[in-house]
Amino acid sequence: MSDMKVRTRFAPSPTGYLHIGGARTAIYDWLLAKKHGGRFLLRIEDTDRNRFVPGSLEDIQESLRWLGLEWDEGPAVGGPAGPYFQSERLEIYHRYAQQLIDEGKAYYCYCTPERLQEVRKAQEQAKQQVGYDRHCRDGAPEAQEGMKRVIRFKTPLTGKTIVKDMLRGELEFENNLLEDLVLIKSDGFPTYHFANVVDDHLMKVTHVLRGEEWLPSTPTHVLLYQAFGWEPPQFVHLSLFLSPDGKGKLSKRHGATSVREYRELGYLPEALFNFLLLLGWNPGNDQEVISKEEAIQMFSLDRVNASPVRFATDKLNWYNGVYIRSLEPKDLAERCLPFLQKAGLLPDPCPAERFAYLVKLMPLVQERLKLLTDVVAWTDFFLQEDIPAPAREMLIPKKLDAETALRVLKELLATLEGADFTVAGLEAALHPVPEKLGLKMGDVFMPLRVAVSGKTATPGMYEMLEALGKERVVQRIKAAISVLESC
Ligand code: GLU
Repeated sequence: MSDMKVRTRFAPSPTGYLHIGGARTAIYDWLLAKKHGGRFLLRIEDTDRNRFVPGSLEDIQESLRWLGLEWDEGPAVGGPAGPYFQSERLEIYHRYAQQLIDEGKAYYCYCTPERLQEVRKAQEQAKQQVGYDRHCRDGAPEAQEGMKRVIRFKTPLTGKTIVKDMLRGELEFENNLLEDLVLIKSDGFPTYHFANVVDDHLMKVTHVLRGEEWLPSTPTHVLLYQAFGWEPPQFVHLSLFLSPDGKGKLSKRHGATSVREYRELGYLPEALFNFLLLLGWNPGNDQEVISKEEAIQMFSLDRVNASPVRFATDKLNWYNGVYIRSLEPKDLAERCLPFLQKAGLLPDPCPAERFAYLVKLMPLVQERLKLLTDVVAWTDFFLQEDIPAPAREMLIPKKLDAETALRVLKELLATLEGADFTVAGLEAALHPVPEKLGLKMGDVFMPLRVAVSGKTATPGMYEMLEALGKERVVQRIKAAISVLESC
């Protein structure tokens, strides 16, 4: 592969949020370009105006950037092969469609939607192959000035078309089973097929990576390349994702399917990138944690897998934990901040001293976070001045009674009021308490933990008390004492 020439493109249609399957395609496109010192293009295929979803254009770009997949040419950055929005290239498609008309390789079709509908119905009833009956292929007798028309491709009626796919080898298609596809629609917009071929050629795309659902369209694309006398790019049709149980195609019913949803659930882009990278590609050894930089070095198309792969959410969660644990406290705090702001636990913008406090909390919770959203439950009682008084039953250790719990809390109050609130100071102060009360360590710590946090699971005791500070600890123990005394 000559390095300088590699040009890949990700060509989404703005019909929804960036899908995780699309994100994997973009990752492979990006890696292939980076590995060979080539260029990665983003082209927006916005020719189907009926399917346009507001907000999707912004989401696709934002999600790609979030994953770290910056494009070398495309929206916002421009480039020599632009414009990169197909809706801005209509004149180009018309020119090329005209060329095919002039050469007798395409034709005007005046068939009305009603006629097409009738043809289809008749075909269905006769149990024939459904498709356009090529009524206008050799001239349209009913054609009149001003009538709506489309331009259709004159697909060869005989012979075979070979699609060379880098993963799947040579695939043969019978031309007589292919339709005379529409190239230009009656609204003047091109179809996906036509715009895609023209643009991949004009943008000098060398490798077309896309989902295998596009494979049935590829023979027509190849025929279009042939009609123009153009060299087709290398095709790579990537496998589908299977559901986590491996029983069928991944769909919305199995959970989140867009990059945005994963982001909002609290996944790190590094984790999603690494996970998607290995969903259909393998490094040839058992390395699982692969950074972007390593992936650029290691990536090659011959290790891409053609068979469907299971979308194992537990594996993605595992990656998320790995990457969360690898972050510096400040970095982790920055990533947690939006979730805490959304939960109303920190203001937006966050004042510097409150952010510094959050950074201090990170080592206490880092090991425990599976998702960034978990940070809310692990840190809320640190970030709140007051917490709701805990329920009485929570304060009483198993097999003990309210009286004992009260005795414990009173002793702790006296001890902690005089303690030095550092990890070492707290350890020294609390160490003798269980023996003094004739209780086990757990029976002392449990009411204390619940009193200061309202929870039964918290970060380590000494670090937690230190981070809360004497004032809040004392005040919360007092509140817990009143709960026990009030019954
Ligand atoms: N616009 C198509 C899509 O949304 C692109 C398919 C291709 O890459 O050719 O998936």
